[in-house]
Amino acid sequence: MLTHLPTWTTDRVELLKSHFEAGLTCREIAASIGVSRNAVIGKLARLQLTRGPARAEPRPTKAARERSRKSIPRLQYQILQAVYENAQPLQEEPIASERRCSLFELSNERCRWPISTPGAEDFCFCGNTPIEGMPYCSGHHRLAYRPGSRQRVVRG
Ligand SMILES: [Zn+2]
Repeated sequence: MLTHLPTWTTDRVELLKSHFEAGLTCREIAASIGVSRNAVIGKLARLQLTRGPARAEPRPTKAARERSRKSIPRLQYQILQAVYENAQPLQEEPIASERRCSLFELSNERCRWPISTPGAEDFCFCGNTPIEGMPYCSGHHRLAYRPGSRQRVVRG
């Protein structure tokens, strides 16, 4: 018997519309009319009664706001990481080898850091005045005994 009774009688549809226009929630409308909330939602959809995008929008916007807020620390981390990685090569000052010399000109008073590739036509040595007791000038000494990895381990 019940299956023959339409859920949405003309009266109920009118009630639905007026409640909807009054701004009642689907749950309130359902309770007032005496149907399920799903029935109200379904009927509203069929009647193309929506409260417009203004009401639906705050949700995704808020979610988006939260997403962007959460991503900030990660972004900061990435920036810091990039800065750190880029800073590594910048710490090395360019070494001016103004007294380049050949293998035969090398002496204890000349930095023996090879410039370019051994065997290449322009192959020579740095020739700068070395640090006392060291084979390299200060710049190449830094390169040769680069503290990089070792120091980081000690610090850690
Ligand atoms: Zn040198």
